[in-house]
Amino acid sequence: MEYKMTSRIFRIHGNFCTSHPWEVIVATLTLTACMMTVDYQYQAPPPKPTVRSCGDCIEEAEYHAADLITMTLIRSLAILFGYYQFNRLRKLDNKYILGITGLFTVFSSFIFTSAAINLLGIRVSELKDAIFFFLLLIDLPKAVMLARLALNASNQEEVKTNIARGMSVVGPTLTLDAIVETLVIGVGTLSGVHRLEKLSYFACISVLVNYVIFMTFYPACLSLILEYFQLSRTANSYARRGSALIARILKEEDHRFNPVVQRVKVIMTAGLMMVHVHSRWSLRDYENRTPNVIEDHIAFNGTEEATAVHGQIMKWMALGADQIVILILLLALIIKFVFFEDKQELTEQLLTTEIVERRTEMPKKDSRRRIHRSFSLISTNSSSSGQASSGDDEDKDSNKVDKEIQTDCFPEISDVESSSPEDDRMGETCRSIEECLSIYNDTDLGASFLRDEEVIMLVDNKHIPAYQLEKAVEDAERGVGIRRRILGSQAKVTKALINLPYKNYNYEQVMGACCENVIGYLPIPVGYAGPLILDSKEFYVPMATTEGCLVASTNRGCRALMKCGVTSSVVGDGMTRGPVVRFPSIKKASEAMKWMQTPANFEVMKKNFDSTSRFARLDKILVKIAGRYLFIRFVARTGDAMGMNMISKGTEISLKGVQEIFPEMEILSLSGNFCTDKKPAAVNWIEGRGKSVVCEAVVPAKVVSSILKTNVHTLVDVNNSKNMIGSAMAGSIGGFNAHAANIVTAVFIATGQDPAQNVSSSNCMTLMEPWGSDGEDLYISCTMPSIEIGTIGGGTVLQAQGACLDMLGVKGANVEKPGENASQLARIVCATVLAGELSLMSALAAGHLVKSHLRHNRSRTVLPTEISPQLLLPPCIDNNI
Ligand code: NAP
Repeated sequence: MEYKMTSRIFRIHGNFCTSHPWEVIVATLTLTACMMTVDYQYQAPPPKPTVRSCGDCIEEAEYHAADLITMTLIRSLAILFGYYQFNRLRKLDNKYILGITGLFTVFSSFIFTSAAINLLGIRVSELKDAIFFFLLLIDLPKAVMLARLALNASNQEEVKTNIARGMSVVGPTLTLDAIVETLVIGVGTLSGVHRLEKLSYFACISVLVNYVIFMTFYPACLSLILEYFQLSRTANSYARRGSALIARILKEEDHRFNPVVQRVKVIMTAGLMMVHVHSRWSLRDYENRTPNVIEDHIAFNGTEEATAVHGQIMKWMALGADQIVILILLLALIIKFVFFEDKQELTEQLLTTEIVERRTEMPKKDSRRRIHRSFSLISTNSSSSGQASSGDDEDKDSNKVDKEIQTDCFPEISDVESSSPEDDRMGETCRSIEECLSIYNDTDLGASFLRDEEVIMLVDNKHIPAYQLEKAVEDAERGVGIRRRILGSQAKVTKALINLPYKNYNYEQVMGACCENVIGYLPIPVGYAGPLILDSKEFYVPMATTEGCLVASTNRGCRALMKCGVTSSVVGDGMTRGPVVRFPSIKKASEAMKWMQTPANFEVMKKNFDSTSRFARLDKILVKIAGRYLFIRFVARTGDAMGMNMISKGTEISLKGVQEIFPEMEILSLSGNFCTDKKPAAVNWIEGRGKSVVCEAVVPAKVVSSILKTNVHTLVDVNNSKNMIGSAMAGSIGGFNAHAANIVTAVFIATGQDPAQNVSSSNCMTLMEPWGSDGEDLYISCTMPSIEIGTIGGGTVLQAQGACLDMLGVKGANVEKPGENASQLARIVCATVLAGELSLMSALAAGHLVKSHLRHNRSRTVLPTEISPQLLLPPCIDNNI
């Protein structure tokens, strides 16, 4: 509770800093200026003459030696620590992070130096110790974390929100840490040991400066820089890593928050406060508190100021043993970094080459050539290495090895498409497999910190499964982009993929739900038909199709139905799953069949089934026997979901229950094709599956002639001959219609249904009769017994499909009446089919079909205007064809 409140305060504070960056920066700078001009008014007592004995001299020498060793250790540690931090940042491989963190360090050091000089009145010569202390205590990881959050934003508003979120997470912990650290280190200032006191003062100021800058100047600056350079909007690889990474960073930080530790810290703070108050209360004499500091100050400001400064500078300049150690360490690190980092990579690459060659048992000659090539590639700069290998004419095997030694990063693919500007650094040498693996396996880093080429290298070497790319790089779009590059190179389809879009799509909704091995998405035109008057309500029906004429024709049908409207009725609701089970004999099989058909036993099966879902309810079972096989058709209502997953789950559990009573029963398949899903089958046509809907309308004679351009008599005649007699002649099952599948599929695709279920869902019988006393009006009905449809689950969760469901007012689950949305959608489908049937049948009756299809359904953009005579089909030899 308290944590939530403090975290909210820090969030507000973060918001303020990022929304008023200039004000915060100016305030911080003003404060710094004030600190630098602080003038101490205390009067200095004259320096006490010190009479020293010889014993004192020895003690002092020992003291200096110990001091020297301690300070050398601290300085070395600081340098090594700084080097480690810098190297880690370099691994992150983002120049923005490096720059921003560098800025943070420089500015904080500046403030720290000013504070140390002015508040403690220290000498210039002592500044070097202070700076080392500062470097040791500066909290770069937190600064990096905030920078990562900010860079992950895709616009300025998000930059602010992300920084504020970051502050709200780290703020409370950081504040408590700063207090505890200051108080703990502050104890050192009471020790009475001059050197320790001074170092403790440095450390305290370092902690405070770090804290203040992190909480004020840094977030303000971060927000300002990102706004100025529009870094977050330039689609750099950070910005594209998405919300998953933000969530991970925040979660990691959140995990570090341990309430028990925080409570201990609070108790520690209280205790330390008491120690400080008690100790400082008794130390009234200002001089006693920091005698040496004041002396130093006086020496610095006194009459001999000029001489003292000169002396100090000379002293500072003079190289002591400790300085020499530090200098050597620094030089060694610089030399290592500048000259040996690449050489190390070279060694690693050579090693990798040798391992690969041993694995592939390449001939020695080839091996030498490759090692030589690796040398030349690395000794020249990385970009030329890329060109060298791409232009190489070596055999396929050597290309494979080249890939493994990773000197070149798929330039031919990158030419065509590159998924991130950072990866546009063509031909840049990838890090070694070992280095990439260590980044990938690092819980703080992971594959999101690798370049695309490096991820591809890990996929090629089976360290990352290609199907898990999105998860590995924590950015679905980037994962899809990388997969396209892999596919492009393997299947030589790079150029083909250019026209398959993949950017700006919400893959988060696809992953683990709608599609695997994603390489993009298909934009399908969506039209609308309407208004469709159905049960006195208006609907504008979205239809996704590439068949010209379809939407126009359905729309004409809707227009014809405007006056009369369509009436609908849902007569059945039951999704089905029909497993096949086997018994040792027909006796056992029939025994089990009878057992299941007994109402009390059905209740047992139902109880098991219903326990698997809040919405799936088993209504009946249909059991059929074939020898010693049983086919059990489970029929259940599934609320607003189409229900295949739900019913499969329920069926499995229910069957397990039956198996307990009939242990000899073998469950051969959960789907025994008696369901029947996605295959033409009479059982769905006769028994129904999903929603069974009937729609009807009476179209006035005037509308038939004016809009449909035909008459009732002809329409009824064509319907009988085509949809009844014709379909019977064809031995059709459920195909007593003109083109129900056209409308069903278009609406299914638009609204995120499983498109393969158009097989049964398109079962439809279209009936027409003359209507009214004089028989001049048209009665039309469509009977669709098996519309497998839902408004929740499957593809309905996708954004565009969701929008189409929204157009119809049936998006998602119906909270008040579960199942009502799915039923309403089924009614709409059936009514739209009726409109489509009316229009197409009229076109056929009037003889307009070919004319309108040629007008609306023939692409003029791709068909060649002239066809060479060789391409024309030869005249038919067999006249019967
Ligand atoms: P689902 O997304 O697997 O399940 C629906 C989920 O929504 C359930 O968890 C259900 O809760 C929940 N829910 C919340 N409110 C609901 C409401 N008002 N009505 C119904 N459910 C509600 O969807 P599904 O329809 O069962 O399965 C559709 C997917 O199955 C499609 O992707 C399709 O392509 C695929 N499919 C599977 C098979 C197969 O054999 N498994 C065959 C064909 C198609 P509960 O957890 O309480 O049930």
